[in-house]
Amino acid sequence: MLSPVHLLNIARVVMEEGTWGMTSGDNVAGLELACVWIAEGLMIVGGSIYMARGGLTSYICCPDCTVWFKDPTKTMSYEMPEDLDKVVHDLKGLNLKTLHHLTPLTGQKPASLEFDIFFCPACSTFGCFDLQTVELIQKKKKVETKKAKLIDRLLLPKEGLADLLK
Ligand SMILES: [Zn+2]
Repeated sequence: MLSPVHLLNIARVVMEEGTWGMTSGDNVAGLELACVWIAEGLMIVGGSIYMARGGLTSYICCPDCTVWFKDPTKTMSYEMPEDLDKVVHDLKGLNLKTLHHLTPLTGQKPASLEFDIFFCPACSTFGCFDLQTVELIQKKKKVETKKAKLIDRLLLPKEGLADLLK
């Protein structure tokens, strides 16, 4: 036969288990929430990568200091070279010296070449570059600029970078 004291003990154990169960539930909920946050974080990162590839956004994240930036540190404009394919090939091979053979753009031309270089504003060691053609198209009353990427965010190596840019 159960004594009132024993019943009280059982009730306390059930209550404690219940409390423990609820705490455990909360922990699970907390974990799930953390997972949702991680998933959302990944989606944002994934979305950014996807958008960067699609050319819709131009944000870059420095992997060293996780600083986001989008503006080119330097933009250089050149006359459209006759051997564009070779220039693109050279730049894809990180032969940046090929830029010295290009003629800097003077005035406005119907077609030109733009070289954008991006360096992390925080550490200045992480960098990449873009190469794009710039076309000026005369519309009825205004001139439209049409850009087409030839090289999209090619990573610049940290080692020997100064030599590459000489
Ligand atoms: Zn950085």
